[in-house]
Amino acid sequence: MGTVSNCTCGVCGTSFGVRSGGGFFFDLLHCDICGKSTTVSHEELGEIHLGYIKGLRVPYAIARAGLDARIQAQYTGPVLTPDEYTAAAEATLAPCECGGTFRYAAPPRCPTCRSTEDQWTVGLNNVSMIVD
Ligand SMILES: [Zn+2]
Ligand SMILES: [Zn+2]
Repeated sequence: MGTVSNCTCGVCGTSFGVRSGGGFFFDLLHCDICGKSTTVSHEELGEIHLGYIKGLRVPYAIARAGLDARIQAQYTGPVLTPDEYTAAAEATLAPCECGGTFRYAAPPRCPTCRSTEDQWTVGLNNVSMIVD
């Protein structure tokens, strides 16, 4: 589950929604140039994600502990480290329309001036939960 916060950019004054946090069943990535967000589901990642869960040896999330224990017990494919997992997952995504690359480490950016989070005011009363 992730959240959407309404933010106002302190540089250009644009208001926009920012999605943050991945979910139990998907990951959230941002474009390394424009900051646009995209998600990739663990189901789409298939063996890439199974190999990562296998390598964790603890549940990825408590809410899905039963599923993770089953993967760890039954999956026999290659084990991926967190670094190998992020590199492999990033490689499955098409480039952003701006020409950038979607990456786990890239921050969200203002859609108008591309400032980052430290320049924004977050509307605390205006957070909506996404139910996945
Ligand atoms: Zn982009
Ligand atoms: Zn801005």
